[in-house]
Amino acid sequence: MKRIQIHKTSLVVLCGSAGCGKSSFASRHFSPSQVVSSDQCRAMVSDSEEDMSASRKAFRVFKLLVDSRLSLGKLTVSDSTALTPKARRELVTIGRKHDFQMVLIIFDIPLPVCQERNLSRARNVPQRVLLSHRRLLDKTLSGVQGEDFDSIHIIKEEDLGSVSVEIVPLPVEIPLSGPFDIIGDVHGCCDELEMLLDRLGYLRVNSNFTHPAGRMAVFTGDLGDRGPRCLDSIELVLNMVSSGSALYVPGNHCRKLHAYFQGRKIKIGHGLERTLEELFRAEKSRRDSIAGRFLEIYEKAVPYLMLDRGRLVVAHAGIKENMIGRLSKRIRRFCLFGDTTGEFDADGLPERRDWASQYKGKSLVVYGHTPVAEAELRNNTINIDQGCVLGGKLTALRYPEMELAQVEALEAYYDRGAMVSFADMPSSVQDTGEIHL
Ligand code: ATP
Ligand code: MG
Repeated sequence: MKRIQIHKTSLVVLCGSAGCGKSSFASRHFSPSQVVSSDQCRAMVSDSEEDMSASRKAFRVFKLLVDSRLSLGKLTVSDSTALTPKARRELVTIGRKHDFQMVLIIFDIPLPVCQERNLSRARNVPQRVLLSHRRLLDKTLSGVQGEDFDSIHIIKEEDLGSVSVEIVPLPVEIPLSGPFDIIGDVHGCCDELEMLLDRLGYLRVNSNFTHPAGRMAVFTGDLGDRGPRCLDSIELVLNMVSSGSALYVPGNHCRKLHAYFQGRKIKIGHGLERTLEELFRAEKSRRDSIAGRFLEIYEKAVPYLMLDRGRLVVAHAGIKENMIGRLSKRIRRFCLFGDTTGEFDADGLPERRDWASQYKGKSLVVYGHTPVAEAELRNNTINIDQGCVLGGKLTALRYPEMELAQVEALEAYYDRGAMVSFADMPSSVQDTGEIHL
């Protein structure tokens, strides 16, 4: 049996010839209010589904309805033929604007079946239209892989009766309510991390830390780079994550290390050189083990975590309220780098908007990325990066208690002044927007 899993914040685009069974499929698997039908829009504006002269105006209403539902975060099914790249592109543009997952369902139903179904219903589409739809469908089937859909499902005639559709939560929705200890950017400060875990009541068993009361650590990312014990920090977190005593969201430094382990060409700097120095000094077996395990955990990681039924959100660089419960490349980027404008300030540093000052969400957002002297609640957000590697503090926020546990840095391991000015970097690095502080 064919199973289609659809995330709650998806725009489902049905695609197929007239008479292939799109509307019947939509009414079987979705509620009427979830389905936006181009035929119904034509009837709404012209009193007739068949009045093709009203198509332009009908599609304006159709797109407006899709756009409005997505702006409210509602799962939506677009019921139109969507057989041209342009028609699909317009829907993808609306979907991307709202950070929705784009799901394409193509009905690859033989022409004679469509012809027969077309004749069996009250509204008949001319034969030549069905022939042209078949040609467009063949083109779609051969070229659609290059279009910007997150998933594409092809339904054949034999699947129509048995296909199941399941609405599933986004992978960022973690069904755990805590209690949690959310720990800010470690950046290789493993001594301080061990002290902090000890203070929080975690017990070391072999090379793993667990909490006797079942508390869970949540790391805000940026485990290595800049500090004195980068590999130990990374391994400690990997051990906790694999054993289920911690969760982790990646930071921009994690992304860079992942690119390095993948063998991609990257600019080494901003503290990555410290991680790599340790890596080169390590035994090959340790090096290979860290690379393999890091790749696996990074690739499984989600850009942000929704915990305690969405009351708590953890993201490396933060998140805006209208992004919570949605997933897209844009959101991934925001969670890693924050609200970069693409512009640079007088010192050549990337300009960032202060998203937290505008935050109006109900979820508490816990994040790091930009070191600040103190962890303070601001509009239901809290930055727990107190720049340990720069000589500040390593912070944990205990949730739901909302208490801070902090360890002072044993020394300043990295000098703010040593951070290369953004203007000095080659443009390929500037494009990534990865330079911060
Ligand atoms: P259009 O693009 O013209 O709106 P459509 O793809 O929405 O067409 P439907 O209206 O759902 O097609 O179906 C066309 C006809 O085929 C209808 O009369 C419907 O009852 C019938 N039909 C739909 N699916 C099936 C099926 N699986 N088996 C048999 N008949 C079907
Ligand atoms: Mg229809």
